[in-house]
Amino acid sequence: MQLLIIDDSETSRLLLETVLRGEGFKDLAGASSWAQALDMLLALPDDKLPDVLLMDLEMPGINGIEATKLFKSAPRFADIPVIMITASDRLEDLEEAFRAGAGDFITKPVHRVELRARVGSALRLKLEMDSRKAREHELERMTRELETLSSQDGLTGVANRRQFDKVLEQEWQRCARDSMPLTLLMIDIDFFKRYNDALGHIEGDKCLKKVAQAIQTAFRRPGDFLARYGGEEFAALLPDTSPEGGLKVAQSIRQELLDLALPHPDSSVSDLVTVSMGKATLVPRPDGDSSVLVAASDESLYQAKEAGRDRICCFSHKNAD
Ligand code: GH3
Ligand code: MG
Ligand code: MG
Ligand code: MG
Repeated sequence: MQLLIIDDSETSRLLLETVLRGEGFKDLAGASSWAQALDMLLALPDDKLPDVLLMDLEMPGINGIEATKLFKSAPRFADIPVIMITASDRLEDLEEAFRAGAGDFITKPVHRVELRARVGSALRLKLEMDSRKAREHELERMTRELETLSSQDGLTGVANRRQFDKVLEQEWQRCARDSMPLTLLMIDIDFFKRYNDALGHIEGDKCLKKVAQAIQTAFRRPGDFLARYGGEEFAALLPDTSPEGGLKVAQSIRQELLDLALPHPDSSVSDLVTVSMGKATLVPRPDGDSSVLVAASDESLYQAKEAGRDRICCFSHKNAD
């Protein structure tokens, strides 16, 4: 619908309609009261709402000014311009009409040229607003997409290092506040350089994706968080997770990888792709530095490598599994 004319006088409504049709406006509808107009408006979907409302000021019951106030107070209608049509040229009426939210007014008897000009400019205003809103929505969508892209690792789809740093800081503060343990697993694929050398980088990339999926399959809680920390190294952050709970997750990651059974043609420890893991758990202090957790799990990862790979080393217990 392009225009909705609300006027209690049928003669006046028909006159407006005829003139407007003659001036080339299409999709006109009329209502004889605010109540009738509201019924019509409520039945319309958002994309079928009128672009402009022509509102008679003098109507019995709810007059044009009250109707405009009601109309403009609904968020769904707020952006639709209202032109007030009035037989009165009292300044107070006009002032009240503008205060109620009308954007323009026309005095009766209406002149063809004036009507066309005013309705035309209200329509242009509405189109302008619609396209501005569409551009804003598009911009918001692109911003959201960009945010996702800038926090994701392009290859595996899990979080990237940048996002890991952010989440680590958040979880550190949250666990500190609630005195909860925070566990970090550093997970590094064993002999991955040799895997690439034997099968090529494309197969290496596929393997990285599968390992990332396997790790996530082992997760049990929505708060468990995986990031690609670097080349063939992943970091799993497990909030509110005790040393024992963290070990269980690490063990099920190993189990998932065993089940996946990805052949490794040149590993010194297995026929399959394996990982080494360093685990550290601590209850963060609010004034502490979250990098100690990374350093601790890194140290344990190094021990796991030294001790022969394909295993879990825990920082707090220093015992290999
Ligand atoms: P280790 O058991 O001691 O961890 O040995 P490694 O070969 O896994 O470790 P190293 O750090 O020597 O080599 C890591 C290799 O991971 C180097 C590179 O070939 C591979 N790599 C790192 N990033 C990517 C990637 O994005 N795609 C592929 N295909 N390979 C990668
Ligand atoms: Mg009237
Ligand atoms: Mg490695
Ligand atoms: Mg590595």
